[in-house]
Amino acid sequence: MIDIHAHYDDDAFDDDRDKLLQSLLGEKGVNKIINAGCNIETSEASIRLAEKYENVYAVVGFHPNDAHKMTDDDFEYIKKMLDHPKVLGIGEIGLDYHWDTSHKEIQKEVFRKHLELAVERDLPVVIHERDSIADCLEIVLDYNVKGVFHAFSGSKETAKILLDRGWYISFPGTVTFKNAKHPPENAAFVPEDRILTETDSPYLTAHPFRGKRNDSGYMTYTLEKIAEIRGTDFEHIERITEANAKRLFGF
Ligand SMILES: [Zn+2]
Repeated sequence: MIDIHAHYDDDAFDDDRDKLLQSLLGEKGVNKIINAGCNIETSEASIRLAEKYENVYAVVGFHPNDAHKMTDDDFEYIKKMLDHPKVLGIGEIGLDYHWDTSHKEIQKEVFRKHLELAVERDLPVVIHERDSIADCLEIVLDYNVKGVFHAFSGSKETAKILLDRGWYISFPGTVTFKNAKHPPENAAFVPEDRILTETDSPYLTAHPFRGKRNDSGYMTYTLEKIAEIRGTDFEHIERITEANAKRLFGF
């Protein structure tokens, strides 16, 4: 299993981070983890984790809810971080009008800057989108960039537009939720070569552990659910999602 999106730098892991990561990357069978930055501090923390663990990697950038805090110097520093050998891409970036509606224009501007940088450096991007899909589509479709919509909760119609343009779709524990609508629908039809899996740890824990602190070990429930929806087995989903993650992120 490869967890393409997690936040092990979060306070929720302060008490047992090292023990947990050792066990996840050891006996729990998690192959690789990509830790995502949301600002300078968490991007640096992601790199530190990647330096410590052979199979932890980082993506760096400014999350839409931190976009209004980004200075020109911060953006220059993000560019420098991209030279680190364990930094695989740019993220998490995007638009979020659920938590922040007062900086929409700044969010868009910062999002575009990161996408331009991704094109320039030929790096994949990790997109965060919440309650902002129309603006988000308008922006991403302007760029010839490869990447993934993480924890994608959009409709089948939106997924189709993205898939046509080469995007990957990533599924967290939400696909297992009893009241989930779009994720199970999308899990049924996204082509084999575009599905990715993630946890967004410490959030979005799969059923029956919903509400508990998440970690990459719970991804087994997500893979099992996707396998069930697609009428195949766990091993097959594990194989295709690992191959997809390796193709997109180049590790
Ligand atoms: Zn995240």
